Amino acid sequence: MAKLTNRIQPDMIMQSYLVEAFKGVALVTRQFARNLFGRKDIVTVQYPEDRRPYTPRFRGKHLLTKRADDQVRCVACMLCSTACPANCITIVAAEHQDKDIEKYPTTFEIDLLKCIYCGFCEEACPCDAIRMDSGVHTLPTLTRRDQKSGKIDLLGLAKLSTSAQGGEFRAHDHAGTQHGQSTPH
Ligand code: SF4
Ligand code: SF4
Repeated sequence: MAKLTNRIQPDMIMQSYLVEAFKGVALVTRQFARNLFGRKDIVTVQYPEDRRPYTPRFRGKHLLTKRADDQVRCVACMLCSTACPANCITIVAAEHQDKDIEKYPTTFEIDLLKCIYCGFCEEACPCDAIRMDSGVHTLPTLTRRDQKSGKIDLLGLAKLSTSAQGGEFRAHDHAGTQHGQSTPH
């Protein structure tokens, strides 16, 4: 059932908003004087000139790692894109000239607008080829296209990885491991 309320009939003073405007000016003036002469409690950060420090736990956006010979470590196995719950990794694979390396990615693109930064791609990768420890924050952009991080961007943050390539059979590693255990990274 509808509830009836008594509407306040505004008088001339209320309708002029003079009292409320005066209260607003007084509040702003008080805050201005406080920050100018007294306690500096300005909460606004002059971004991008000033930036708040990131917590040490912050890891940052994705990067692709390289081998010692400066080649991309990724072997385009698609495990990261399969594990990605946001379906935001696009990889196009090609045959590698080196017969010891089956494939490499000609295209490797992450749509950072879809990415939820869960880290599943990093965990799924058997080659330590993708990491999320760049320490770089994803910046806002004017277009959606600019939020797609391609191979060049990802390799621009590249780090060297000397981990054993996943799935690689090495007799001396195998001798110390039980059947069914994976090769250590
Ligand atoms: S962090 Fe998660 S959502 Fe983002 S690309 Fe990796 S798996 Fe996909
Ligand atoms: S899981 Fe690793 S090696 Fe496989 S496609 Fe992704 S980044 Fe490349």
